[in-house]
Amino acid sequence: MVSIPVQCPYCHSTAVIKAGKQANGTQRFQCHNEQCVRRIFLLPYQDRGRAPEVRRQVVDMAINGSGIRDTARVLRISPTTVVAVLKKSPRASYRQPHVAASWSFTRRPRLGRTRSRAR
Ligand SMILES: [Zn+2]
Repeated sequence: MVSIPVQCPYCHSTAVIKAGKQANGTQRFQCHNEQCVRRIFLLPYQDRGRAPEVRRQVVDMAINGSGIRDTARVLRISPTTVVAVLKKSPRASYRQPHVAASWSFTRRPRLGRTRSRAR
């Protein structure tokens, strides 16, 4: 009998135990690392959009200016999966420029008025 060490794909810890099975019969695992972001994971993910490697790439591509359809085509996942990953990503929520947009709308017309009065 050969034992293969199971590593958590999120924190790469080997403190991992079996945790039942999925409805389709694949083995689930549970990570015992306290600092790990994920408790339950699967080793062979059926859909590419669930794998942590692909999820990281989705966020990186969004930060570098790639669109949703663009990202979906390159990573071979569906556009809906790209949106779902970005909505769940904590880094994506930092990038909402609501404050900056309202600031530029209120300041620019005032600058135009002062210039026309000077003439
Ligand atoms: Zn882990």
